[in-house]
Amino acid sequence: MSGATKLPPQAHFIDGKFTPAASGATFDAVNPYTETVTTQVARGDAADVANAVAAAKAAFDDGAWSRAPASFRRKVLFKAADLIEARSAEIIRLQTLEMGGPVGPAHPGPHPIMSRSAWNLRFFAEEQEQAGDHAFNRDDSLLTYTMSDAAGVFGLITPWNAPIMLSTWKMAPCLAYGNSAVHKPSELSPLSIKILCEIFAEAGMPDGVYNVVQGLGKEAGVALVEHKDVIGVSFTGSPGTARDIAARAAPQLKRTSFELGGKSANIIFADADLAKAIPGAAMGIFMNSGQACVAGSRILVQRSIYDAFLEGFAKAASMWKAGDPSDHGTRLGPLVSKGQYDRVTGYLDLARQEGRILFGGGRPAGLDTGYFVEPTAIVDVSPDARVCQEEIFGPVATILPFDDADDALRIANNSSFGLAGYVWTRSQDTAHYMSHRMQTGMIWINSGFDRDLRQPFGGMKNSGVGREGGNLSREFFTTTRFASFPL
Ligand code: NAD
Repeated sequence: MSGATKLPPQAHFIDGKFTPAASGATFDAVNPYTETVTTQVARGDAADVANAVAAAKAAFDDGAWSRAPASFRRKVLFKAADLIEARSAEIIRLQTLEMGGPVGPAHPGPHPIMSRSAWNLRFFAEEQEQAGDHAFNRDDSLLTYTMSDAAGVFGLITPWNAPIMLSTWKMAPCLAYGNSAVHKPSELSPLSIKILCEIFAEAGMPDGVYNVVQGLGKEAGVALVEHKDVIGVSFTGSPGTARDIAARAAPQLKRTSFELGGKSANIIFADADLAKAIPGAAMGIFMNSGQACVAGSRILVQRSIYDAFLEGFAKAASMWKAGDPSDHGTRLGPLVSKGQYDRVTGYLDLARQEGRILFGGGRPAGLDTGYFVEPTAIVDVSPDARVCQEEIFGPVATILPFDDADDALRIANNSSFGLAGYVWTRSQDTAHYMSHRMQTGMIWINSGFDRDLRQPFGGMKNSGVGREGGNLSREFFTTTRFASFPL
């Protein structure tokens, strides 16, 4: 990858057209590997949001999408899914430029993350066609049936850590059920979304159904949340932003759905298959440089295997080679931004006071440019320490010993978050015992990340409100009503 990579300016996408900001304002997109500016991006404000919402509302009212047969929406979304796979290399290249995620090993066919994004579209395209409602006959005197209709214009607000995968996870149900959308991608990942806009247009989605306003959270994001014609906001990001959105949405009684952060426990019992658990734990915290909401950032290890685990984990971490994220051999890319780099290194300073850095804690050798942090393990630290309680969002794990299942549960559940949990054990009894008692929305046993999209995705406590997936997305993105008829 060259430091000189320069892209054309990035625009909004409103009513089927790429459009600069009404004010002409822009902000810089920065490549986190080279620390250079790749291009300027339209800096949206309330005027741009108003234009986008007006286009979305007009498209909704027109009915060419909102009242189209489900089979038409299915056809368009399937075509879009095919195009995502066909253009997968292009999308991944832009994602790497915008947020530094490694392209991963060379492989034939579409990139796995793009296949997953395409699956999001196909899944909800089918779901909306298959879904049914209820009809009841009360005492042969009253026939009632429910209707789930497209609801209107939604604001979709997404983070930068998996830009296209997380965006499609929201836009797929939103659009499949017939709504229109105004999407505000993160200002830290403003590049790859352009291809999605082109893909929806080519797939035959009517103009105005899907719109993008680029910009900062406190400008474009706030304006979108507050716009009176936006009936709901589906948000993925940090708990602090969710609180702000909730407060702004409340006076207008808008519906909101929040997928937030985590500090997930990865619990390794003495009877686990360590040949799988150790690389699994490393993947859980070093993948995407730890910038994953479901990162297993608190590793809990049964005391009898604690020392053996530390030795194996250090070896596994050493295999996370840092470097140019566009090289197929690189596993660890830079953090997304200077702000995120400062935040994570601030936590490393704190770790030196609250505990001990077992390995890592600095920049990978030989990489003087780019927002890199080495794979890092923190030990000899209290479960109440800030580094064990706060989401660091970097390749940084805390490792704590535990005595038995109840001790592990005490430590794991001592968290203001409750997104994911991981358990490694050969005992089905232990697996069920833990699954029933861990205070998290999602639990993976002897595995991680693999999904069945029919299951609800989401968290407890500060990790979120609401669930995405299967019929739970349908509930959020439709308006449910009933009609009744005397018999
Ligand atoms: P963030 O909250 O800073 O930003 C997310 C989005 O919200 C961005 O598009 C931003 O511009 C926008 N935004 C910021 N302030 C806003 C405001 N006041 N009003 C409206 N919009 C606003 O989060 P981030 O740093 O982009 O993402 C990292 C966070 O996201 C982490 O906490 C991570 O765990 C979480 N996350 C959660 C999931 C999940 O599914 N649960 C998935 C990925 C990331």
